[in-house]
Amino acid sequence: MLAVSKAAFLTLCLCMGLVTTTTKAEVNLPEMGVPSHTTISPSDEKRLGRAFMRAVSMQTHLFNDQPSLFYLQKLGNQLSQHTSPKHDFFFFMVQDPSINAFAGPGGYVGINTGLVTTAEQEAELAAVLAHEITHVTQRHIARGIEHANESTWPSVGAIVAALLLGGKLDTAVTSGAILTAAASKMQHTINYTRRFECEADRIGMRVLFESGFDPTAMPRFFSRMQHRTLDFNDPSMALLRTHPVTEERIADSQNRARFYPSKPAQINDEFSLIKARVTVITAATRHDVLRQFRQQWLHGNQNPAVRYGYGMALIHNHQQVKAIAIFQNLCKEFPSQPLFKLSLAEAQQAAHINSELKTLEAAQKQFPDYNPLQLAYAESLLEHDKPEQSRQVLLNFEEGNKFNAQYHLLLSEAQGRTNRLIEAYQSRAQGFIILNDLERAVMQLEQAYNLAAHKPRLRHKIGEKIKQLRREIAIISEL
Ligand SMILES: [Zn+2]
Repeated sequence: MLAVSKAAFLTLCLCMGLVTTTTKAEVNLPEMGVPSHTTISPSDEKRLGRAFMRAVSMQTHLFNDQPSLFYLQKLGNQLSQHTSPKHDFFFFMVQDPSINAFAGPGGYVGINTGLVTTAEQEAELAAVLAHEITHVTQRHIARGIEHANESTWPSVGAIVAALLLGGKLDTAVTSGAILTAAASKMQHTINYTRRFECEADRIGMRVLFESGFDPTAMPRFFSRMQHRTLDFNDPSMALLRTHPVTEERIADSQNRARFYPSKPAQINDEFSLIKARVTVITAATRHDVLRQFRQQWLHGNQNPAVRYGYGMALIHNHQQVKAIAIFQNLCKEFPSQPLFKLSLAEAQQAAHINSELKTLEAAQKQFPDYNPLQLAYAESLLEHDKPEQSRQVLLNFEEGNKFNAQYHLLLSEAQGRTNRLIEAYQSRAQGFIILNDLERAVMQLEQAYNLAAHKPRLRHKIGEKIKQLRREIAIISEL
């Protein structure tokens, strides 16, 4: 417990740049294969995962676009259903053009937006995800940490977060020469050993196949990455640094894929649309991305994803009238695609023509299972000063949004504006807990506690939650 706490604390130090405290300490590197007397329990791993995620959210720009996250989580859940032992997963995206994916402790699996915009097929993205998911189910990080001497746990925990982000260490710890050296050595000793990589490839391929994907997508993506560049210092190749692709690894992967019955490559419309969406939202210059999609469109590429990307690029270039026309046509031709309805509403909202509420109201009835539409509808209701309706919509979709911070913050606003203040503070606290900002969560719960003076049972429950969160905070800060 103590060692994990130190690790968590140093993870925070690292991301806040307080490395001087750690450089004073001896940094002993763990060695794989050395018998370990330390074990990391699943609950300790969960706590380390929270600290890891907090470091990630402080060091990076999390990509919170709801349709993209919804898609990633659906794909991740599809894959994780075919894993054993069962594990809880939390999938997230980082807005970063470099190609990277990482599995932190506690089931946190992240991908960079650059991976989505680079993958040519959904199966390639699924292959990388299946590999990362396997790192989690096989507890590779925890096993790597088990092999560390207890005194090295703090540095292990601190470095895991920075290392997995690939290339972020330099900026995060400019003064930490020892840490930088430790990290580069640890890269080969913790979870990225050949044995673990091989296991993640082998089991990951089975997961990929059982989830309905073409297993040859895995070697294909590896070899494309290898051909693209062999320069490990190229910042766009972050994944190569943590997951080196060797000829041997590609060959192993190809041989393994031969044992599976062949599966025709499937074109997934949703993947192509999300790829276009992410490409536009994360584009370095909005003019270039507009030009790129317009050219494809003018050259007769009537592929729905090209038209969708063009429409999105038009929104981002303040050409809403054209965008609305494109999305209206797409909605007519593909009435079963909820993303077209959502983007029609996005264009209408950007055009300030006050018709998005009507679009969203009809669309969310048609697609009750498409979360991003429900959230957009609830948000639009708030903007149109209909907080009670917004609250009702949100409460209907609580189940699928337990771990969605934006959902809880939106619900809090709807509750606050309908004078349900205790509930509003509690929902806001829940949002901050998901964001791993425990201090702000406690502040919100204290407000709720004060207001609940005449509701003893509720007050007691809130009080217990505050105590639990304070214990968590103390573990991190007492060191
Ligand atoms: Zn790996």
